[in-house]
Amino acid sequence: MLESIVFKTERKLSRFLDPRRDFQPSEHPSEMRYDPLTGLSSRICHFAHATAPPMDLAPIVERSLPSCPFCPQVVMKLATRYEDRLVPGGLLSRGGALLFPNLFPYDEVSAVAVMCREHYFPLAELPARVLEDGVGVARDFLRLPALRDEVGGDAAYPIVAWNYTTVAGGSMIHPHMQVILSSNPGNALRRELAAEQAYKERHGRLFREDLLEAERRRGERWIGESGSVCWHVPFAPSALLGDVAAVFPGRATFQDLTDRDVADFAEGLTRVLGYFATLDIQGFNLMFFSDACGAAPDRHWLTVKVLPRFIIGPKLMVQDTSYVQLLLEDRFAMLFPEEVAEKLREFWNAQPRLRAAQG
Ligand SMILES: [Zn+2]
Repeated sequence: MLESIVFKTERKLSRFLDPRRDFQPSEHPSEMRYDPLTGLSSRICHFAHATAPPMDLAPIVERSLPSCPFCPQVVMKLATRYEDRLVPGGLLSRGGALLFPNLFPYDEVSAVAVMCREHYFPLAELPARVLEDGVGVARDFLRLPALRDEVGGDAAYPIVAWNYTTVAGGSMIHPHMQVILSSNPGNALRRELAAEQAYKERHGRLFREDLLEAERRRGERWIGESGSVCWHVPFAPSALLGDVAAVFPGRATFQDLTDRDVADFAEGLTRVLGYFATLDIQGFNLMFFSDACGAAPDRHWLTVKVLPRFIIGPKLMVQDTSYVQLLLEDRFAMLFPEEVAEKLREFWNAQPRLRAAQG
């Protein structure tokens, strides 16, 4: 049933007289792509700017340190607490990670998972154990039954996301994730779940399973596997320098993650972040797309999207988002996903053998 996955592209050509070539006629290609699940369009253009000039993050990291409420010297004094009936002991820890209520909640259940004691890691140096502890403590928290009962039981949606560094909208440098349980899944997840439900009704199969099969067979956007986790570059890109997706086959919800899944994911993510670092990327947004707490894996498989973020022009602090994403609601990329995948795959394969593969 792979014909049910449609990779739709429209190629465009813009023509003008170019002063850089003595006003000779010149042609400039661009492309529209349509997300095979939702039909949302992505523009791929402006290839001349497809490099990320480095920005010096060091002064920002230094400035953020003295007042950081997540550093180990102060965090236990400043951390908010849950009532014992919701979270016995008031907060949760796992390895170096600590989870407590967000002082500025986004929803009824809205926590912060501080992922480590260290204040900052450059992308290439974020250790797998930090990712494991952060994701693991969020999973432990969202499994607490009393908490789930607060917001509609099995119908509640877990939202786990990470804005890393200020270039990605993070208000604190210190690595931390947002951990939310909500009756409202948010626009993007609601749209995806509805489209997956419709796909299931039309084709009798899971969209994500068919997509993985199609991507693995075509190979041009396939990255590889870290244990049970599959990695690929989406056909319709969402970020200027290319985004990456991870899929957990057979897992519907964030709470379904086993310790092994979390370790497998952490290992794959360190590779992806290591690759972003070679492009001088200094931040990213990451989100787990989970079905509702009580869902079986019969329409949706847990997916993670990772978007590299950067300042396009450090001299004038030109941001990488504009009317295109925020008002027109198109996605926008300056690299073809196949190019991104080729380079990332090369980097991924050059890394030491995966621990998961050794096990
Ligand atoms: Zn800190």
